[in-house]
Amino acid sequence: MNTNNTKAFGTQSATAPLEKLNIQRREILSNDVQIEILYCGICHSDLHAIRNDWGGTFYPIVAGHEIVGRITNVGKSVTKFKVGDLAGVGCIVDSCRECEHCHEGEEQYCESGWTVVFNAIDKKHGGVTYGGFSENIVVNENYVVHIPETLDLPSIAPILCAGITVYSPLKHWKAGAGKNIGIIGIGGLGHMAIKIAKAMGAYVTVYTTSQAKADDAKRLGADNVVLSTDTEQMKNCPKQDMILDTVSAKHDINAYISLLKTDGSLVMVGLPAEQLEISAFNIVHGRKSFSGSNIGGIAETQEVLNFCSEHNITADIELIGINQVNDALERLEKGDVKYRFVIDLASLKN
Ligand code: NAP
Ligand code: ZN
Ligand code: ZN
Repeated sequence: MNTNNTKAFGTQSATAPLEKLNIQRREILSNDVQIEILYCGICHSDLHAIRNDWGGTFYPIVAGHEIVGRITNVGKSVTKFKVGDLAGVGCIVDSCRECEHCHEGEEQYCESGWTVVFNAIDKKHGGVTYGGFSENIVVNENYVVHIPETLDLPSIAPILCAGITVYSPLKHWKAGAGKNIGIIGIGGLGHMAIKIAKAMGAYVTVYTTSQAKADDAKRLGADNVVLSTDTEQMKNCPKQDMILDTVSAKHDINAYISLLKTDGSLVMVGLPAEQLEISAFNIVHGRKSFSGSNIGGIAETQEVLNFCSEHNITADIELIGINQVNDALERLEKGDVKYRFVIDLASLKN
Protein backbone atom coordinates (compact mmCIF):
# COMPACT_ATOMS: atom_id res chain seq x y z
CA MET A 1 0.00 0.00 0.00
CA ASN A 2 1.27 3.49 -0.83
CA THR A 3 1.89 5.71 2.15
CA ASN A 4 2.34 9.35 3.05
CA ASN A 5 4.97 10.66 5.39
CA THR A 6 3.20 12.56 8.20
CA LYS A 7 4.49 14.65 11.11
CA ALA A 8 3.25 13.46 14.50
CA PHE A 9 3.91 13.80 18.23
CA GLY A 10 4.30 10.60 20.22
CA THR A 11 6.55 8.51 22.37
CA GLN A 12 8.63 5.34 22.24
CA SER A 13 7.96 4.26 25.84
CA ALA A 14 5.74 4.73 28.89
CA THR A 15 8.36 6.83 30.63
CA ALA A 16 9.87 8.91 27.80
CA PRO A 17 8.46 12.34 26.98
CA LEU A 18 6.48 12.80 23.77
CA GLU A 19 8.52 14.16 20.87
CA LYS A 20 8.22 14.86 17.16
CA LEU A 21 8.26 11.77 14.99
CA ASN A 22 7.31 10.71 11.48
CA ILE A 23 4.54 8.22 10.78
CA GLN A 24 3.10 6.75 7.60
CA ARG A 25 -0.53 7.31 6.63
CA ARG A 26 -2.12 5.23 3.88
CA GLU A 27 -2.89 6.95 0.58
CA ILE A 28 -6.61 7.52 0.32
CA LEU A 29 -8.73 4.59 -0.86
CA SER A 30 -12.00 5.10 -2.74
CA ASN A 31 -14.14 5.63 0.42
CA ASP A 32 -11.50 7.53 2.40
CA VAL A 33 -11.16 11.19 3.22
CA GLN A 34 -7.95 12.92 4.18
CA ILE A 35 -8.28 15.49 6.97
CA GLU A 36 -5.85 18.24 7.86
CA ILE A 37 -6.03 18.15 11.67
CA LEU A 38 -6.62 21.60 13.16
CA TYR A 39 -7.33 20.74 16.81
CA CYS A 40 -7.14 17.64 18.97
CA GLY A 41 -8.26 17.27 22.59
CA ILE A 42 -6.29 15.36 25.23
CA CYS A 43 -8.46 12.77 27.00
CA HIS A 44 -7.40 10.87 30.09
CA SER A 45 -7.60 7.72 27.93
CA ASP A 46 -4.70 9.13 25.89
CA LEU A 47 -2.74 9.46 29.12
CA HIS A 48 -3.69 5.94 30.33
CA ALA A 49 -2.52 4.52 26.98
CA ILE A 50 0.69 6.58 26.74
CA ARG A 51 1.68 5.49 30.27
CA ASN A 52 0.56 1.89 29.56
CA ASP A 53 -1.78 1.96 32.61
CA TRP A 54 -4.06 -0.67 31.03
CA GLY A 55 -1.21 -2.77 29.52
CA GLY A 56 -0.96 -3.62 25.84
CA THR A 57 0.26 -0.27 24.49
CA PHE A 58 2.10 -0.48 21.16
CA TYR A 59 5.12 1.83 20.94
CA PRO A 60 5.68 4.23 19.36
CA ILE A 61 2.26 5.54 20.28
CA VAL A 62 0.61 8.59 18.72
CA ALA A 63 -2.48 9.32 20.82
CA GLY A 64 -5.40 11.69 20.20
CA HIS A 65 -9.04 10.87 19.49
CA GLU A 66 -10.88 14.20 19.68
CA ILE A 67 -10.04 15.39 16.19
CA VAL A 68 -11.41 18.42 14.36
CA GLY A 69 -10.07 19.36 10.95
CA ARG A 70 -10.74 20.18 7.34
CA ILE A 71 -11.07 17.78 4.41
CA THR A 72 -8.15 18.12 2.00
CA ASN A 73 -8.74 15.13 -0.27
CA VAL A 74 -11.55 12.66 -0.99
CA GLY A 75 -11.56 9.21 -2.58
CA LYS A 76 -13.49 8.69 -5.80
CA SER A 77 -16.52 7.02 -4.14
CA VAL A 78 -16.90 9.49 -1.26
CA THR A 79 -20.40 11.00 -1.10
CA LYS A 80 -20.72 12.60 2.34
CA PHE A 81 -17.83 15.09 2.24
CA LYS A 82 -16.09 17.41 -0.16
CA VAL A 83 -12.75 19.16 -0.04
CA GLY A 84 -12.94 22.15 2.32
CA ASP A 85 -15.62 20.72 4.65
CA LEU A 86 -15.04 20.70 8.38
CA ALA A 87 -14.86 17.16 9.73
CA GLY A 88 -14.56 15.34 13.04
CA VAL A 89 -13.09 11.98 14.03
CA GLY A 90 -13.55 10.39 17.44
CA CYS A 91 -12.53 6.99 18.76
CA ILE A 92 -13.91 4.67 16.07
CA VAL A 93 -12.31 4.39 12.62
CA ASP A 94 -13.57 0.96 11.56
CA SER A 95 -15.89 -1.91 12.48
CA CYS A 96 -17.32 -5.02 10.76
CA ARG A 97 -20.41 -3.15 9.40
CA GLU A 98 -22.31 -6.47 9.38
CA CYS A 99 -23.21 -7.39 12.94
CA GLU A 100 -26.40 -6.40 14.76
CA HIS A 101 -24.68 -3.57 16.63
CA CYS A 102 -23.04 -2.08 13.53
CA HIS A 103 -26.46 -2.17 11.81
CA GLU A 104 -27.98 -0.35 14.77
CA GLY A 105 -25.30 2.34 14.65
CA GLU A 106 -23.63 1.12 17.84
CA GLU A 107 -20.25 0.34 16.32
CA GLN A 108 -18.69 0.63 19.78
CA TYR A 109 -20.25 -2.74 20.59
CA CYS A 110 -19.28 -4.39 17.26
CA GLU A 111 -19.14 -8.16 17.75
CA SER A 112 -15.90 -8.48 15.78
CA GLY A 113 -14.32 -5.63 17.70
CA TRP A 114 -14.02 -2.10 16.33
CA THR A 115 -10.81 -0.32 15.46
CA VAL A 116 -9.74 2.52 17.76
CA VAL A 117 -8.26 5.55 16.02
CA PHE A 118 -4.98 5.16 17.90
CA ASN A 119 -2.91 2.33 19.34
CA ALA A 120 -5.00 -0.45 17.76
CA ILE A 121 -4.13 -3.13 15.23
CA ASP A 122 -5.62 -2.04 11.93
CA LYS A 123 -7.19 -5.33 10.79
CA LYS A 124 -8.12 -4.04 7.35
CA HIS A 125 -5.08 -2.01 6.33
CA GLY A 126 -2.31 -3.51 8.46
CA GLY A 127 -0.06 -1.90 11.04
CA VAL A 128 -1.09 0.02 14.13
CA THR A 129 -3.36 3.08 14.11
CA TYR A 130 -1.98 6.53 14.91
CA GLY A 131 -4.23 9.21 16.38
CA GLY A 132 -4.77 12.93 16.24
CA PHE A 133 -1.51 14.30 17.65
CA SER A 134 -0.45 14.62 14.02
CA GLU A 135 -0.84 16.88 11.01
CA ASN A 136 -3.36 14.78 9.08
CA ILE A 137 -5.32 11.55 9.13
CA VAL A 138 -6.95 9.27 6.54
CA VAL A 139 -10.29 7.74 7.55
CA ASN A 140 -13.14 5.90 5.81
CA GLU A 141 -15.94 8.47 5.39
CA ASN A 142 -18.41 6.28 7.32
CA TYR A 143 -16.47 7.03 10.50
CA VAL A 144 -16.24 10.79 10.00
CA VAL A 145 -18.80 13.32 11.27
CA HIS A 146 -19.80 16.81 10.20
CA ILE A 147 -18.80 19.68 12.47
CA PRO A 148 -21.37 22.45 13.04
CA GLU A 149 -20.11 25.82 11.78
CA THR A 150 -21.86 27.59 14.66
CA LEU A 151 -19.50 26.75 17.53
CA ASP A 152 -15.91 27.69 18.45
CA LEU A 153 -13.76 25.10 16.62
CA PRO A 154 -11.14 24.19 19.26
CA SER A 155 -13.83 23.94 21.95
CA ILE A 156 -15.82 21.47 19.83
CA ALA A 157 -13.00 18.89 19.71
CA PRO A 158 -13.74 17.41 23.19
CA ILE A 159 -17.30 16.60 22.12
CA LEU A 160 -15.79 13.85 19.89
CA CYS A 161 -14.94 11.75 22.97
CA ALA A 162 -15.84 13.45 26.27
CA GLY A 163 -19.15 14.73 24.90
CA ILE A 164 -20.35 11.53 23.26
CA THR A 165 -19.16 9.35 26.17
CA VAL A 166 -21.44 11.16 28.60
CA TYR A 167 -24.31 11.95 26.18
CA SER A 168 -24.84 8.30 25.24
CA PRO A 169 -25.48 6.98 28.79
CA LEU A 170 -27.37 10.12 29.86
CA LYS A 171 -29.75 9.53 26.96
CA HIS A 172 -29.87 5.74 27.47
CA TRP A 173 -30.78 6.14 31.16
CA LYS A 174 -33.29 8.89 30.24
CA ALA A 175 -31.80 11.91 31.97
CA GLY A 176 -34.37 14.68 31.68
CA ALA A 177 -36.94 16.76 33.52
CA GLY A 178 -37.89 15.30 36.89
CA LYS A 179 -34.74 13.15 37.10
CA ASN A 180 -31.97 13.56 39.67
CA ILE A 181 -28.65 12.96 37.95
CA GLY A 182 -25.33 12.78 39.78
CA ILE A 183 -21.95 13.27 38.11
CA ILE A 184 -18.75 12.12 39.83
CA GLY A 185 -15.55 13.99 38.92
CA ILE A 186 -15.27 17.34 37.19
CA GLY A 187 -12.70 16.61 34.52
CA GLY A 188 -13.05 16.54 30.74
CA LEU A 189 -15.96 14.07 30.79
CA GLY A 190 -17.52 15.34 34.00
CA HIS A 191 -17.74 18.99 33.00
CA MET A 192 -19.38 18.02 29.67
CA ALA A 193 -21.79 15.77 31.59
CA ILE A 194 -22.89 18.68 33.77
CA LYS A 195 -23.63 20.83 30.72
CA ILE A 196 -25.38 18.08 28.74
CA ALA A 197 -27.47 16.67 31.62
CA LYS A 198 -28.57 20.22 32.46
CA ALA A 199 -29.54 20.88 28.83
CA MET A 200 -31.57 17.64 28.90
CA GLY A 201 -33.56 19.15 31.77
CA ALA A 202 -32.27 17.07 34.69
CA TYR A 203 -31.54 18.27 38.24
CA VAL A 204 -27.76 17.89 38.36
CA THR A 205 -25.63 17.19 41.43
CA VAL A 206 -21.85 16.95 41.07
CA TYR A 207 -19.43 15.20 43.39
CA THR A 208 -15.89 16.49 43.35
CA THR A 209 -12.76 16.02 45.43
CA SER A 210 -11.51 19.53 44.52
CA GLN A 211 -12.69 22.62 46.42
CA ALA A 212 -11.63 24.90 43.55
CA LYS A 213 -13.81 22.98 41.10
CA ALA A 214 -16.71 22.88 43.61
CA ASP A 215 -16.65 26.67 43.56
CA ASP A 216 -16.87 26.65 39.74
CA ALA A 217 -19.45 23.88 39.25
CA LYS A 218 -22.55 26.10 39.38
CA ARG A 219 -21.10 28.25 36.63
CA LEU A 220 -20.89 25.06 34.54
CA GLY A 221 -24.60 24.47 35.21
CA ALA A 222 -24.76 22.21 38.27
CA ASP A 223 -27.78 22.71 40.55
CA ASN A 224 -26.05 21.20 43.55
CA VAL A 225 -22.38 20.65 44.42
CA VAL A 226 -21.02 18.11 46.92
CA LEU A 227 -17.44 18.03 48.13
CA SER A 228 -17.13 14.23 48.28
CA THR A 229 -14.43 14.32 50.97
CA ASP A 230 -16.96 15.93 53.36
CA THR A 231 -19.09 13.16 54.94
CA GLU A 232 -21.81 15.57 56.09
CA GLN A 233 -22.28 16.89 52.56
CA MET A 234 -22.38 13.32 51.20
CA LYS A 235 -25.03 12.35 53.77
CA ASN A 236 -27.29 15.33 53.10
CA CYS A 237 -27.35 15.38 49.30
CA PRO A 238 -30.50 14.30 47.38
CA LYS A 239 -30.89 10.66 46.31
CA GLN A 240 -30.16 10.07 42.61
CA ASP A 241 -31.95 8.25 39.79
CA MET A 242 -28.65 7.80 38.00
CA ILE A 243 -25.04 8.57 38.84
CA LEU A 244 -22.47 8.83 36.07
CA ASP A 245 -18.98 7.99 37.33
CA THR A 246 -16.20 9.65 35.31
CA VAL A 247 -13.34 9.05 37.74
CA SER A 248 -10.02 7.91 36.24
CA ALA A 249 -8.48 6.37 39.38
CA LYS A 250 -9.43 3.87 42.09
CA HIS A 251 -12.15 5.19 44.40
CA ASP A 252 -14.94 4.00 46.70
CA ILE A 253 -17.90 3.07 44.46
CA ASN A 254 -20.04 1.92 47.40
CA ALA A 255 -20.15 5.42 48.84
CA TYR A 256 -21.99 6.48 45.65
CA ILE A 257 -24.22 3.40 45.26
CA SER A 258 -25.54 4.35 48.70
CA LEU A 259 -26.71 7.65 47.20
CA LEU A 260 -29.03 6.00 44.63
CA LYS A 261 -32.82 5.83 44.89
CA THR A 262 -34.53 2.42 44.67
CA ASP A 263 -34.02 1.17 41.07
CA GLY A 264 -31.27 3.74 40.55
CA SER A 265 -28.20 3.04 38.40
CA LEU A 266 -24.57 3.84 38.87
CA VAL A 267 -23.03 3.97 35.41
CA MET A 268 -19.26 3.74 35.02
CA VAL A 269 -17.57 5.55 32.17
CA GLY A 270 -14.27 6.17 33.95
CA LEU A 271 -11.68 3.46 33.34
CA PRO A 272 -9.36 3.13 36.34
CA ALA A 273 -6.76 0.44 35.77
CA GLU A 274 -7.45 -1.06 39.20
CA GLN A 275 -10.38 -3.38 40.06
CA LEU A 276 -13.34 -1.75 41.81
CA GLU A 277 -15.15 -3.50 44.68
CA ILE A 278 -18.92 -3.47 45.03
CA SER A 279 -20.87 -4.59 48.08
CA ALA A 280 -23.65 -7.04 47.12
CA PHE A 281 -25.75 -5.73 50.03
CA ASN A 282 -25.54 -2.24 48.65
CA ILE A 283 -27.12 -3.15 45.29
CA VAL A 284 -29.53 -5.83 46.57
CA HIS A 285 -31.15 -3.38 48.99
CA GLY A 286 -33.00 -1.03 46.69
CA ARG A 287 -32.76 -3.15 43.48
CA LYS A 288 -29.93 -0.92 42.25
CA SER A 289 -27.84 -1.43 39.12
CA PHE A 290 -24.16 -1.05 38.47
CA SER A 291 -23.42 -0.67 34.74
CA GLY A 292 -21.01 0.77 32.22
CA SER A 293 -21.06 2.57 28.90
CA ASN A 294 -18.49 2.86 26.14
CA ILE A 295 -18.26 6.10 24.07
CA GLY A 296 -21.11 6.13 21.47
CA GLY A 297 -21.68 5.18 17.82
CA ILE A 298 -21.02 7.35 14.78
CA ALA A 299 -24.68 8.38 14.31
CA GLU A 300 -24.96 9.30 17.98
CA THR A 301 -21.70 11.26 17.76
CA GLN A 302 -23.29 13.33 15.00
CA GLU A 303 -26.38 13.65 17.20
CA VAL A 304 -24.45 14.99 20.19
CA LEU A 305 -22.63 17.50 17.98
CA ASN A 306 -26.00 18.74 16.72
CA PHE A 307 -27.41 18.75 20.28
CA CYS A 308 -24.45 20.83 21.49
CA SER A 309 -24.86 23.22 18.57
CA GLU A 310 -28.60 23.69 19.38
CA HIS A 311 -27.87 24.26 23.08
CA ASN A 312 -24.70 26.29 22.48
CA ILE A 313 -22.57 23.82 24.46
CA THR A 314 -18.81 23.52 24.02
CA ALA A 315 -16.00 22.39 26.31
CA ASP A 316 -14.11 24.77 28.60
CA ILE A 317 -10.59 24.35 27.25
CA GLU A 318 -6.97 25.37 27.64
CA LEU A 319 -5.61 25.70 24.10
CA ILE A 320 -1.94 24.66 23.93
CA GLY A 321 0.87 24.31 21.41
CA ILE A 322 2.52 20.96 20.66
CA ASN A 323 5.52 21.84 22.84
CA GLN A 324 3.27 22.13 25.90
CA VAL A 325 1.85 18.62 25.55
CA ASN A 326 4.24 16.96 28.04
CA ASP A 327 3.43 19.58 30.70
CA ALA A 328 -0.26 19.17 29.95
CA LEU A 329 -0.07 15.39 30.48
CA GLU A 330 1.59 15.93 33.87
CA ARG A 331 -1.10 18.41 34.87
CA LEU A 332 -3.86 16.08 33.63
CA GLU A 333 -2.44 13.33 35.84
CA LYS A 334 -2.90 15.63 38.85
CA GLY A 335 -6.42 16.72 37.86
CA ASP A 336 -5.10 20.23 37.24
CA VAL A 337 -7.02 21.28 34.12
CA LYS A 338 -10.16 23.35 33.54
CA TYR A 339 -11.41 21.28 31.91
CA ARG A 340 -9.80 19.93 28.73
CA PHE A 341 -6.46 20.55 27.03
CA VAL A 342 -6.79 20.99 23.28
CA ILE A 343 -3.74 21.07 20.99
CA ASP A 344 -3.54 23.62 18.18
CA LEU A 345 -1.91 21.43 15.50
CA ALA A 346 -0.70 24.45 13.53
CA SER A 347 2.13 24.41 16.09
CA LEU A 348 3.30 20.99 14.84
CA LYS A 349 3.97 22.33 11.36
CA ASN A 350 6.50 24.96 12.46
P1 NAP B 1 -9.94 13.82 33.70
O1 NAP B 1 -10.16 15.05 32.91
O2 NAP B 1 -8.61 13.55 34.28
O3 NAP B 1 -11.07 13.78 34.86
C1 NAP B 1 -11.13 12.77 35.81
C2 NAP B 1 -11.63 13.36 37.13
O4 NAP B 1 -11.77 12.32 38.09
C3 NAP B 1 -10.65 14.32 37.78
O5 NAP B 1 -10.72 15.62 37.25
C4 NAP B 1 -11.10 14.29 39.24
O6 NAP B 1 -12.25 15.13 39.42
C5 NAP B 1 -11.55 12.85 39.40
N1 NAP B 1 -10.52 12.05 40.05
C6 NAP B 1 -9.27 11.77 39.58
N2 NAP B 1 -8.61 10.97 40.45
C7 NAP B 1 -9.46 10.74 41.46
C8 NAP B 1 -9.39 9.97 42.67
N3 NAP B 1 -8.26 9.29 42.99
N4 NAP B 1 -10.48 9.94 43.48
C9 NAP B 1 -11.59 10.62 43.17
N5 NAP B 1 -11.71 11.37 42.06
C10 NAP B 1 -10.67 11.42 41.23
O7 NAP B 1 -10.28 12.54 32.81
P2 NAP B 1 -11.34 12.37 31.62
O8 NAP B 1 -10.64 12.63 30.33
O9 NAP B 1 -12.58 13.07 31.97
O10 NAP B 1 -11.55 10.78 31.66
C11 NAP B 1 -12.09 10.18 32.83
C12 NAP B 1 -12.00 8.67 32.75
O11 NAP B 1 -12.90 8.22 31.73
C13 NAP B 1 -10.63 8.11 32.35
O12 NAP B 1 -10.39 6.92 33.09
C14 NAP B 1 -10.78 7.79 30.87
O13 NAP B 1 -9.92 6.78 30.44
C15 NAP B 1 -12.22 7.33 30.85
N6 NAP B 1 -12.89 7.40 29.55
C16 NAP B 1 -13.79 6.43 29.26
C17 NAP B 1 -14.51 6.48 28.09
C18 NAP B 1 -15.55 5.44 27.80
O14 NAP B 1 -15.93 5.26 26.66
N7 NAP B 1 -16.08 4.76 28.80
C19 NAP B 1 -14.29 7.52 27.19
C20 NAP B 1 -13.38 8.52 27.52
C21 NAP B 1 -12.69 8.46 28.72
P3 NAP B 1 -12.43 16.05 40.74
O15 NAP B 1 -11.19 16.89 40.81
O16 NAP B 1 -13.66 16.83 40.43
O17 NAP B 1 -12.62 15.13 41.90
ZN1 ZN C 1 -11.44 9.78 25.24
ZN1 ZN D 1 -19.89 -5.05 13.80
